[in-house]
Amino acid sequence: MPRILMLYTGGTIGMADTPEGLAPAPGLLPRLIARLPEGRCELDIVEYPQLIDSSAITPAHWRQIVGDIVGRRDQFDGFIVVHGTDTMAYTASMLAFALQGLAKPVVVTGSQLPLIRPGSDGWTNLSDAIEAACQPDLQEVVIVFDRVMLRGCRARKVDAAGFHGFDSPNCPPLAEFGIVPAWHRARWRSASGALSDQAPQLDANVAAFFLTPGAGAGLIGAALSAQPLDGAVLMSYGNGNAPDDEALLAGVSAAAARGTLVLNITQALRGAVAPGAYAASQPLVRAGAVPGGDLTPEAAVAKLLWVCALPVDMVQKRDALTRDWVGEVAVN
Ligand code: ASP
Repeated sequence: MPRILMLYTGGTIGMADTPEGLAPAPGLLPRLIARLPEGRCELDIVEYPQLIDSSAITPAHWRQIVGDIVGRRDQFDGFIVVHGTDTMAYTASMLAFALQGLAKPVVVTGSQLPLIRPGSDGWTNLSDAIEAACQPDLQEVVIVFDRVMLRGCRARKVDAAGFHGFDSPNCPPLAEFGIVPAWHRARWRSASGALSDQAPQLDANVAAFFLTPGAGAGLIGAALSAQPLDGAVLMSYGNGNAPDDEALLAGVSAAAARGTLVLNITQALRGAVAPGAYAASQPLVRAGAVPGGDLTPEAAVAKLLWVCALPVDMVQKRDALTRDWVGEVAVN
């Protein structure tokens, strides 16, 4: 029988009502999970001492999750990370980069309604997640949610009201669950790269900037000029276009010259940054921004943190940013 380790970090799924709103209730989720039918796998649950609403996630939490999985990689056949939905796509992206070479299923899940509420989606999400974690040929980090399995580094939270909380707009689902699961194995990736024994540092200063018409462009430029960031995600328009704004471009140039990796991605839900498609894409390229293709904002932040931690020089880091590592970006 497969041995599965469940790391329970927090999130709505195990929350209960408090006078201030929903908050994690220690011990509740493991007690409730004992109600799931036995027989599919041997399930060990580790509840983190500080359960969080995932809006509080930090790189330190990611290092802990990575360390817990790497440290137990030989004892378990698959891993489930129970997580809040707010930042689930960031965590799934980060785990995808940091766990390259693990070659075992890592399934991130949670729910929109707590398990203790009638009609909670948590029960289905948990049993689908267990099913996915028991697939010996699944070698990726995935999100299982509302009857679909998505590539973790392609997923986005798209709904804070309905059950269909996640989608991967630039990547078809890796599985769909029904009476019988449809495993789209032809879309699965095999593990590549060597698994590092230690979680990456992830201590780089990385921030994201969302371009808007008007004063925003100049303010982003000023921030990039003033802040000694290691990495910056710039969310530009359409195929990577931006206004020919002097302060914005001076900020990107100054940051790039200082060694900040500026990654240009699109605000659009689908499609990619395509330098040269429009003349309006050229100023950012000339200023030194790295085109990020169809990376999601979540994967862009995770990729920058991971690349900044690589023990290589700046030229190699820029090159690493443009490569596809875990299926996070379409390569032409
Ligand atoms: N605020 C919650 C969290 O992300 C939302 C959820 O889990 O659905 O932890």
